[in-house]
Amino acid sequence: MPIDWIARARAEQRNALDERASKELLAAYGVMVPRSQVVRGPEDAAAAARVLTPPFVVKVMSPDILHKSDAGGVIVNLQDAQELAAAIHSMRALPAIAAVAVDGYLIEEMAPPGIEIVVGGVRDANFGPLVMVGLGGILVEVLKDVSFRICPIAKIDAEEMLAELKGAAILQGVRGRKPASQSAIVEVLLKIGGENGLLLEHAADIKEADINPLIVSESGAVAVDARFILS
Ligand code: ADP
Ligand code: MG
Repeated sequence: MPIDWIARARAEQRNALDERASKELLAAYGVMVPRSQVVRGPEDAAAAARVLTPPFVVKVMSPDILHKSDAGGVIVNLQDAQELAAAIHSMRALPAIAAVAVDGYLIEEMAPPGIEIVVGGVRDANFGPLVMVGLGGILVEVLKDVSFRICPIAKIDAEEMLAELKGAAILQGVRGRKPASQSAIVEVLLKIGGENGLLLEHAADIKEADINPLIVSESGAVAVDARFILS
């Protein structure tokens, strides 16, 4: 039996799934997530490094920190257990992190490089769950280049969602960058917003879903950050 992360969050009176729980929920729907371990501190770095393949990423886990990078709570490209331990050690000492309740540190493998996009969901009072896709980084924050559909979507809808992004050409690979696998994105959109997708199956519980970023390479897509807000 997989862990019911939604029930567990509710029992702990949390209104959101943490990053590990969010990713396990995604994985249960077939969305690729990095292999990971949760540790308490630098003393656990060696054990985690033994079961994962470098390079590693370390991230702070705290219900009080929404934007981990802003707090200094994400360090990428760590090559071995020693670098990992040192990273957790220095992260833990940062004022923004020392001041809040920390659940632990999430150690992950790095996703293969690719184009960062955003996939999400919101629940509309009238239409129920909507699925969203957008281009990553400043394109989503400033240009708001996103497209939405009412769930459930079919393959053709997912393809249209991508085609109607203003920056769709970025996915073809510009300025010598490799293209992003369009079919990998379509698959993720269907797993989230399709007929038996995550959003519809958990419509009563999930108010908002956010995968930011989904890193899309030529051959696949990995959700490297995720968060689900419960109703
Ligand atoms: P934040 O809470 O700041 O959004 P993220 O988990 O999204 O934190 O990490 C910040 C950035 O670090 C991501 O946008 C991505 O570029 C990079 N990153 C995080 N995790 C990974 C990973 N496992 N593999 C590759 N890059 C990663
Ligand atoms: Mg993020």
